[in-house]
Amino acid sequence: MCLEPSPPPSSRLTRRGVLAGAAALAGTAAVLSTAPDAAARPNGPAREAAPDGDLVIEGGTLLDPATGEVTEDAVVVIRSGRVDRSGPRGRGGVPAGLPRLDARGRWVLPGLVDAHIHLSTVAEAREAVTKGATSARSGSTTFYQDIAVRELARRQPAQAPRLRAAGVFVTPDMGDSVLADPDLAPLVGLDGGVRTGAALRRVVEVNVARGADVIKTRVNERAGLPDQDPLTQVYSYEQLSDIVAAARRHGKGVLCHSYSEQGCHDAVRAGIRSLEHGVFVAERTLHEMGKRGTYFTPTLTAIAGLADSSDPVLAERGRTYLPVLKDAVRAAHEAGVPLAAGTDSSGGEVTPIGREIELMRAAGLTPLEAIRTATVNAARLLGVSGSVGRLAPGCAGDVLVVDADPLSDVSTLSRPVGVVRAGRIC
Ligand SMILES: [Zn+2]
Repeated sequence: MCLEPSPPPSSRLTRRGVLAGAAALAGTAAVLSTAPDAAARPNGPAREAAPDGDLVIEGGTLLDPATGEVTEDAVVVIRSGRVDRSGPRGRGGVPAGLPRLDARGRWVLPGLVDAHIHLSTVAEAREAVTKGATSARSGSTTFYQDIAVRELARRQPAQAPRLRAAGVFVTPDMGDSVLADPDLAPLVGLDGGVRTGAALRRVVEVNVARGADVIKTRVNERAGLPDQDPLTQVYSYEQLSDIVAAARRHGKGVLCHSYSEQGCHDAVRAGIRSLEHGVFVAERTLHEMGKRGTYFTPTLTAIAGLADSSDPVLAERGRTYLPVLKDAVRAAHEAGVPLAAGTDSSGGEVTPIGREIELMRAAGLTPLEAIRTATVNAARLLGVSGSVGRLAPGCAGDVLVVDADPLSDVSTLSRPVGVVRAGRIC
């Protein structure tokens, strides 16, 4: 039985949240008229019924990422945004009177999960969904925009992925994020930045009060800035332990930006829930991750993207890091470390989550294993495995329709011809 935990409404509805919701409401008509051609075309689903989240997807080849089972001429019945039934056509027929999506000649699978993405605008949220990420975990935003995006997703499912929000980044130099909440303002001017136990706890506490589902921190500097050295460690094992302890007091897991071998090791030993990037993670840490069940979100897409940079330092970083990271992904997989797909999209550019599946495949996973990193694995990491990553009865009515067999060519997942979110055609 699939039951999605229903998170409480955010404790404080921010002005930004209201504005984001209003913008989405204003844009509803335009969104419906831009529904993907292929998805809306055959047997024209009745648009007036779509807002209720009722839809029948019929005739496609259904893939269950959990089992690898493939069902030809399948029927997926979605009612009020949830899967009512899925499987072969023969079983129970096709209910009459519901809007239909003809998927003949196409493949149908659960909507994908982007386990590391930065969604700061309405446009980014919408683009993430239309490119296939019907669920996501935020990698933090500057001013709590992700909390508002999560609200947008609840009210207007076609506008945003269902989201686990991270709030603001727990980092020594918070920049203008100290103005994201009045309770963060006292952190301005701290000698050495946000490093003391009290300061670290404050950022975690404010995030939790603002409604964050997860806490995002770092152990290393950034790879995407040429003047930073991603092998430089910014928090010690003790500081990371303080952050994890503060998050755990509220039942929150921590995702940690990391690159250096020692940094990865310290973060994992401190008890983080998932290691992000982790280019130089080594055998001893992977072994520890396997034992603890720590997830690895390598964000291969982001590292591969560095190679295309016009900055020579970043381009060189991308070229040298990518093969190292692919080896780490393969070693992690062999060590039994659960892998989750994340694009690390940010700054107005949204990469389809299918691209990360392609790179997981290129790193050595089988197509089905690679698909699992963006479905069942990532759903477990987000704590929504009962409702996301499969199309079993009771699961979310989030569906991806693609033109080709994803088990033969995973690149088809980067070019969805139809996306359904909670029974609504996006
Ligand atoms: Zn990120």
